[in-house]
Amino acid sequence: MKAHLTHPVFQIVSDLCHSSGQPSYVIGGFVRDIVLKRECKDIDIVVQGNGIELAKQTANKLGDNIKVNIFKNFGTAMLNYNDYNIEFVGARKESYNRDSRKPIVETGSLEDDQKRRDFTINALAISLNKEDFGTFVDPFDGIGDIEKRIIRTPLDPDITYSDDPLRMMRAVRFASQLNFSIHSDSLKSIENNCDRIKIVSQERITDELNKIILSDKPSIGFRILFNTGLLHIIFPEMVRLQGVDIKDGKAHKDNFYHTLQVLDNICLNTDNLWLRWAAILHDIAKPATKRFEQEHGWTFHGHEDKGARMVPRIFKNLKLPLNDKMKYVQKLVLLHLRPIALAQSHVTDSAIRRLLFECGDDIDDLMTLCSADITSKNENKVKRYLQNFELVKQKLHEVEEKDKLRNWQPPISGQTIIETFNLKPGKQIGVLKSAIREAILEGEIANTFDGAFAFMLIKGKELGLEPTNQTKKQKE
Ligand code: ATP
Ligand code: MG
Repeated sequence: MKAHLTHPVFQIVSDLCHSSGQPSYVIGGFVRDIVLKRECKDIDIVVQGNGIELAKQTANKLGDNIKVNIFKNFGTAMLNYNDYNIEFVGARKESYNRDSRKPIVETGSLEDDQKRRDFTINALAISLNKEDFGTFVDPFDGIGDIEKRIIRTPLDPDITYSDDPLRMMRAVRFASQLNFSIHSDSLKSIENNCDRIKIVSQERITDELNKIILSDKPSIGFRILFNTGLLHIIFPEMVRLQGVDIKDGKAHKDNFYHTLQVLDNICLNTDNLWLRWAAILHDIAKPATKRFEQEHGWTFHGHEDKGARMVPRIFKNLKLPLNDKMKYVQKLVLLHLRPIALAQSHVTDSAIRRLLFECGDDIDDLMTLCSADITSKNENKVKRYLQNFELVKQKLHEVEEKDKLRNWQPPISGQTIIETFNLKPGKQIGVLKSAIREAILEGEIANTFDGAFAFMLIKGKELGLEPTNQTKKQKE
């Protein structure tokens, strides 16, 4: 089998290496993705010789102002050409120390270089040499493993994973992204070595975790993380969701598998990583709030509130950003029961207004989360819930059209209150502001300046405040 290599860089490299007598190959993810017919914009070229020199010469041939980024310490060089990242490296051999994932590197042959790769499907190479241009070099039957949809290490998995434990996360990530299974020897070895994930930096672990979360069906990855014991180390809060308690013949659902289903559901409707994180965390406080009550059976009162309060620590431990993304996830966790409550009872305008006010522009995402949260096996129930949700959505739309509460700004500013009553900054301003907000949300007054101003004068009077003469005149 020969590959059809169309990118101009390959012919250029082939010519250059013919003159210098240094064999070169395209290797790794790009080759795997050719076989998988996936698009790939990262090209890795390995040369039995000097990678940095080859990169410089290639850049000259590609065009006048192509910049080469050189990483001398790694012996690699990168260039960017028409949206493609092209990396050059000399073929290398690696050996490892027990307590670090940083290898000792020496020059080696193509085969040495292929052996140090993580998986057979990532160890594939294609020759760029004149005599056999386009021929696959596949010493570990990576093509066979792609056909069988298997993740397997080229060497003894115990060595591969122990040398660089990040590969355990990568195995799970590829399984999830490609919907492949991990070879049983590999799985066993990950189980045995899972503790070694602790020598990997949190950033790299979380990178892979996010790639799992961004795959089409993340439950594939999470099940493997759970079954191998990796999840217990990297994300114990999620593991605690697993399990079922039974009392007086009453069982609650397994919240781990429920969460995975909610996550898979939401992935059908959004690529937003943070909305997917909200799905993962929506029930995270269920274990901590679980009670058994004689009349009601199992309850999880306040899990939305406690869950929202757990988010910052989880984000911090996972080195996820502690910024507006985190606030967004917190808000969705906090509010995730509200639309369900609205769908079950008679929906009042004021309840709708409150939700719009609290949720703001994230209301559509909240509805996406809540729809994904319906995981009943009873089809009629699911249908009824979804219909009720449609009603809630319609109502949200109507009320928003009328009252514009999505990005609510108080119609009366603190400054206006101060000037109207000639107040010094203090408690009364806050009291008036929240009275106005409550009256608008309850629908007692319109969400307008005039409505709110008249109301403020009445409320002020109740508090014993007199408007200044100027205000009185303006009123007249
Ligand atoms: P993606 O770009 O989707 O993350 P990839 O397979 O291209 O997938 P990269 O991280 O870009 O992954 O790495 C490129 C190649 O380098 C891989 O295909 C693999 O051959 C090799 N590689 C990357 N990381 C490791 C590792 N930790 N151990 C061994 N080989 C690795
Ligand atoms: Mg890549």
